[in-house]
Amino acid sequence: MPDPNTAIPHYDLAVVGSGIVGALTAHHAVRRNPGLRVLVLTHASRGTGATRLSAGFDTPTGHSAAQRALAARSTALFAELAAELPDVQREPVDTYWLVGRATAAALHTSMADGGRTSAVDRDGRQLLTETFPGLAHGDDEVVRASAPMTVGRPQALADQLLDRVLSRPGSALLEGFRVTAVRRAGGHIELVAADGSRVTADKAVVAPGPWALDGPVARAARDRGARVKKVVAFHIMSPPPPHAPALVFEDADAFLLPHHPGGHWIFSVTSPDWDRGPDEPLAIDARDRSLARALLERHVPGFLPHLLGGRVFSDCFTPGHLPIVDTVDDDDVVMAIGGSGSGYRLAPAMAEDALNLLYGGTRS
Ligand SMILES: Cc1cc2nc3c(=O)[nH]c(=O)nc-3n(C[C@H](O)[C@H](O)[C@H](O)COP(=O)(O)OP(=O)(O)OC[C@H]3O[C@@H](n4cnc5c(N)ncnc54)[C@H](O)[C@@H]3O)c2cc1C
Repeated sequence: MPDPNTAIPHYDLAVVGSGIVGALTAHHAVRRNPGLRVLVLTHASRGTGATRLSAGFDTPTGHSAAQRALAARSTALFAELAAELPDVQREPVDTYWLVGRATAAALHTSMADGGRTSAVDRDGRQLLTETFPGLAHGDDEVVRASAPMTVGRPQALADQLLDRVLSRPGSALLEGFRVTAVRRAGGHIELVAADGSRVTADKAVVAPGPWALDGPVARAARDRGARVKKVVAFHIMSPPPPHAPALVFEDADAFLLPHHPGGHWIFSVTSPDWDRGPDEPLAIDARDRSLARALLERHVPGFLPHLLGGRVFSDCFTPGHLPIVDTVDDDDVVMAIGGSGSGYRLAPAMAEDALNLLYGGTRS
């Protein structure tokens, strides 16, 4: 009788998730150890998930020391990637911050690189009024300038990273494999799919993005306080000028970002729709629209007629908006969850932390 187990494919590392966190994890893993056989698994097709719709804005800020450390480490890792990849899909964007006078000091504290904002000079004021029609704010608010931030294309970067991983012998991508369980069996980590099929690996990283509450780490994620929430970024259908800056509404957790490839602006707002998972019908609704309209009416009324459509998806939010990267029931299984609407900019450090836990036993 042949041993049925011999037919089960085995890898050194299994990465559940082909979004930006999974792609960076797989890429870091083969960069550290070029001989590693990595299997990336996705429940649908490559490119399904929050990463595909991400605005890709990277402001290296954090509201806690831990978040700032992740942001700073991610910035350093993005710089390493930029030196390695021919086109890392990241561009600087001049950035201005509209902030309450009372909270301006907190903005400085939140900057992971120790950066400061400065008063807007005459050229800056002219640029702002030319770019943001009707720009206005209350006497208790102020617009400040900072060093340029970065805008990336998260899906293009994830694709590029995955292509590099998959070009190595022994590594593979498995699509349409919805992992329902990750467990130790027969000396390996076994990943079981919804249809009962299985693969094994020595170690596994589970990076399921907004599906965190619905898959193999659901219980652990819930135990750690993870929830899901709708994330909305409107489109302002007006072409941004070539060197248009971004404008962050710091106290409203919103921003206007030029999106040159699409010929429009991205207007990210904080949708109040909690507990909306990625498999539910997700739409930009009247509540999101009135929230966006209220902000524009107050600050950039000239954009109101151009507020049309946008991007909507779900993301996994964790307490304090601090990603959770930790082992789950086994030292060889790590979950990396909790992008909390900032999962692109924090993904490099999340991926590194996951691998440090599996291979180095440390956290950065
Ligand atoms: C509209 C919008 C705008 C955003 N803008 C920004 C921004 O400007 N800056 C920023 O930093 N962040 C932003 N974000 C957040 C950021 O995009 C996400 O936090 C990040 O993309 C999450 O990446 P991920 O790899 O964890 O998840 P995803 O990209 O969602 O990938 C999850 C992967 O896991 C797989 N998967 C899940 N469960 C299973 C399972 N059981 N079996 C097999 N595979 C599974 C999926 O198939 C998918 O491949 C935005 C998000 C949205 C929706």
